[in-house]
Amino acid sequence: MLKNNMCTEFQEAVSYCLIRHRSIIDVITKLQESNARVSRAIAKSITVCGCLKINAEKQNIPQDADLSELKKYMQSHLKGELCRNCTETIEREIGTNIFYTTALCELLGLDLNDILTKEYNKITTLGIYNLS
Ligand SMILES: [Zn+2]
Repeated sequence: MLKNNMCTEFQEAVSYCLIRHRSIIDVITKLQESNARVSRAIAKSITVCGCLKINAEKQNIPQDADLSELKKYMQSHLKGELCRNCTETIEREIGTNIFYTTALCELLGLDLNDILTKEYNKITTLGIYNLS
């Protein structure tokens, strides 16, 4: 069980701020734009700043690997570490993305805290089998 009601308070604050972007059309298009901006910020950390690098190749998983062992074989394909500037930019873009995700919940009458609680229960119950 999630321990606090920060999500509920956040959704109430988002609801209060939803004046200019109250239309579902505004919210879904802003959410889509925000998704792209998160990806763009990550790409810029690689192509403009250079603090991150991508070193990608085929995942090399032994044939006899157990599902519980996969984590030690799976690569993120990232090298390096986010610098302070890129960290701030990506955090800001993810924050905006969370804002519009929450706004979408608000307009559809969904409770972000309930959604996160259900997802939390699912991943803690199913563990590594969650995304299979
Ligand atoms: Zn950077």
